[in-house]
Amino acid sequence: MSSMSDKPEKLITDDGLRLDGRRADEIRPMKIEIGVLSRADGSCYLEWGRNKILVGVFGPREAHPRRMQRADSAVIRYKYNMASFSVEDRARPGPSRRSIEISKVSREAFEPVIMAELFPKTAIDIYVEVLQADAGTRTAAINASSIALADAGIPMKGLITSCAFGKVDGQIVLDLNKEEDNYGEADFPVAMTQDGEITLMQMDGHLTPDEIKKGLELVKKGCKEILEIQQAVLRKKFETPIEETVEEVTDTEDTGNKVVEAEAPLEYASEAAVVEEALEEAEELEEEQLCEETVETDALAEEIPEFEELEDIIKEAEALVEEDTVEDVVEAEIEEEALEEGTLEEDALEEALEEEALEEALEEEAEFEASFEAAPEPEDFEELEPIEEEVSSEVEEVEFDSEELAYEEAQLEEETGIEEVASEETFEPEPEIESETKTITEVPAEEAVKAEVEPEEKKCEGPWKVVKDPSESGSRGENE
Ligand code: UDP
Repeated sequence: MSSMSDKPEKLITDDGLRLDGRRADEIRPMKIEIGVLSRADGSCYLEWGRNKILVGVFGPREAHPRRMQRADSAVIRYKYNMASFSVEDRARPGPSRRSIEISKVSREAFEPVIMAELFPKTAIDIYVEVLQADAGTRTAAINASSIALADAGIPMKGLITSCAFGKVDGQIVLDLNKEEDNYGEADFPVAMTQDGEITLMQMDGHLTPDEIKKGLELVKKGCKEILEIQQAVLRKKFETPIEETVEEVTDTEDTGNKVVEAEAPLEYASEAAVVEEALEEAEELEEEQLCEETVETDALAEEIPEFEELEDIIKEAEALVEEDTVEDVVEAEIEEEALEEGTLEEDALEEALEEEALEEALEEEAEFEASFEAAPEPEDFEELEPIEEEVSSEVEEVEFDSEELAYEEAQLEEETGIEEVASEETFEPEPEIESETKTITEVPAEEAVKAEVEPEEKKCEGPWKVVKDPSESGSRGENE
């Protein structure tokens, strides 16, 4: 809070309006854009009043350093950073006590809804950059992160919404702006699930229990409005394919397939309903073919009343034909078996040939390696001048590689050392060196993790993920 001498005489005018023209229970205008970063798995740019926030979500991806991995779930990492130009008096770059605290409480605000147990050994990284600050940046960042997580297709039980209330000129007001934050009596940020369960609650200043009660009522109202904005933005971006499906179904109605039910519009239902919906969708996909056939048959039965009778007659005829041809079928099966055996023999032959080829290749490799051992001594080089150049350049290359590797290892050790000292909230953005090391030694492990993770991920895709247009997605799986 800055010096009281700069304080405007009144923060709330006699007609109950605040300096920016809002009433006590109004939030600042909010604007959200989804998928603004092509290299992130999910991203969001959010403006709330004069706050400007950018969020990038990466993951689930293999967690580094490895000791951070959890065998039973993903680790969620949240990094709040304030750009030095985001505030009036230049903010000091790098982590501060304030940014570490905000990162911690914000991460905890998301932990109850992110289904981290689906992605063991991975990390879900949320990077927040405050580009312009005007009070309420942590709440703005949480709202933006919620959208970015949904954009990344991270399975969540629901969205998280955040808003603050405070006390200004003795009045409880919603969503403080900079002046109100600076000169007001209290600031009380809250985050909640879409069912109203509180996942973040902080207080700066003094409030009576009654004031808190009143403030929480205001915050509930504010969060509801924000949730509606979040949902509207997500619908606008991801619901289009479902609308197309609905149209298609409507078209077929004219042709008589009335049995098909139009898919219900995307709804942010309660937690259980969201999971149920995802499971149903998976089942629906399997049944789709069957469903279509049933629809056709039913439509036919409606049009021709004798259809059922006809069907019975056909079945009987089929049974008769089957009886006659039982012997033929048995013969055909015997023939098939004989053929299969032949194929098996062929397969065995192929395998033997492959093994032979493998052995030859191994022998060649052994010979190649042996040729190194029998390499001429330096004194022999004088006689073998043209070879000398080749050999020495190879040696140089090898030396360079091992130097580079040693350097990378040293860097990695240094990095690990720093990580150990830093608190878990101050995790550094994945440094270049780490990804390089990955390409040298850890690609197979990473692929293995992906292979483990992907089927699970499909099972639990949220509604926004299901309808996502792959062409619009960021470079998900950038490490592949
Ligand atoms: N602020 C600033 N310099 C700083 C930190 C914060 O000018 O180093 C301003 C900024 O506008 C921020 C406001 O003070 O939005 C309130 O900060 P607070 O710590 O209450 O967090 P916020 O309300 O942004 O979540």
